[in-house]
Amino acid sequence: MSEGTDIATTIPIFPGSVDTAGQRATLGVLGGGQLGRMFVHAAQRLGYFTAVLDPDAQSPAGLVSHHHIQTAYDDPAGLAQLAQLCQAITTEFENVPAQALQTLAQTRAVAPGAAVVGIAQNRIEEKAHFTACADISGVTCAPYTVIETPAQLQDVLANRADLLPGILKTARMGYDGKGQVRVKTVEELGAAWAELGGVACVLEKMLPLTAECSVLVARGWDGQVVSFAPQRNVHVDGILAVTHAYEGNMPPALATRSREAAVAIAQHLGYVGVLCVEFFVVDDGSAHGGLVVNEMAPRPHNSGHYTLDACDASQFDLQVHAMAGLPLPQPRQHSAAIMLNLLGEVWLDASGQRREPDWQAVLSLPGTHLHLYGKEHARIGRKMGHLTITGPDVDSVKTVARRAAGWLGLPGLNDI
Ligand code: ATP
Ligand code: MG
Repeated sequence: MSEGTDIATTIPIFPGSVDTAGQRATLGVLGGGQLGRMFVHAAQRLGYFTAVLDPDAQSPAGLVSHHHIQTAYDDPAGLAQLAQLCQAITTEFENVPAQALQTLAQTRAVAPGAAVVGIAQNRIEEKAHFTACADISGVTCAPYTVIETPAQLQDVLANRADLLPGILKTARMGYDGKGQVRVKTVEELGAAWAELGGVACVLEKMLPLTAECSVLVARGWDGQVVSFAPQRNVHVDGILAVTHAYEGNMPPALATRSREAAVAIAQHLGYVGVLCVEFFVVDDGSAHGGLVVNEMAPRPHNSGHYTLDACDASQFDLQVHAMAGLPLPQPRQHSAAIMLNLLGEVWLDASGQRREPDWQAVLSLPGTHLHLYGKEHARIGRKMGHLTITGPDVDSVKTVARRAAGWLGLPGLNDI
């Protein structure tokens, strides 16, 4: 909850409304990446004006917004302009300075708030939160320890061999597997901490994963909560490659547990907006495997992009509704779906020259929905777009997904 703003007097913000000073109802977003772009599309469809703050003149969201403020995220003049234009503001990337959200919250409705974004930005605080609400969520995180000082490292080297093999992760600024080193021995651990610059880290035990899934939750200012069924995610080289979203994508008992856990985590945070909670499914000897919470993103998530085409309300629609104080209807999935991420390599041939993918062939397949983010330059690992395949049943969706993935040279579909 924002400290300075009286939410009761500013919320709800009705779409299409004009205030007495002639100002149009406008929603703002800090960050101009693809998540901001899809948020802008959802807000505009409802009739809101939009404002994006992002320094990049070519940012995917800036290109499609009514207003684009091109300053740094912590620029006081840029933030003041954003607050002047918008009645409510959200964020689309989690490394936005929490201070910027705090500043905006003095005069505007900001969702999610600076405090919860701050927790999600720091793996140490994030894991402490997961641990604190384990009793109500019913899930714990992977065994871990914190390494912030050389003395702590020495202690771990001497006493925590139980966490090896493990993954050393920087507490801050990690995404798409960046800021992580896999370590098998104490020697490798010492070297890895030095390699990461001796910054605050967590050492997490490497778990035998049988699957990964995530759950999207939307919570309003009044505490109302809705959620999507969990989606199963396949990562390749630490980057999401494929999302499976259909009935039976995971054992029903785990689906129920992960959904309940994500809702409990959002409630415990007093969260407002869309939250994504990522889980590991581990082989613990039980019939369905055990559930372990990995991390959370205080925003819509790549694994929820299928909701744009397969549900009657998308994760971005719910983000708009939550921040503006509109009702949060329970979304309904009407089609089975598989989402394929399109990284820069799809546009690059073996010699690194740019090529155009064969959209003529891909888009001739039934139920294909192409989303490109307006990024000009393709680079290896850069998220350029995604392709969602929808259909009446799982088998037809899988068949089309395999063909599309084959034509585009996409990885991660071995198991379907
Ligand atoms: P993103 O922000 O893109 O979701 P990230 O860089 O924050 O990713 P994590 O989600 O922590 O990183 O890890 C990336 C991937 O690495 C996971 O999705 C999982 O496949 C693997 N991984 C991470 N931690 C573990 C673990 N303790 N045991 C086994 N595999 C792991
Ligand atoms: Mg992750």
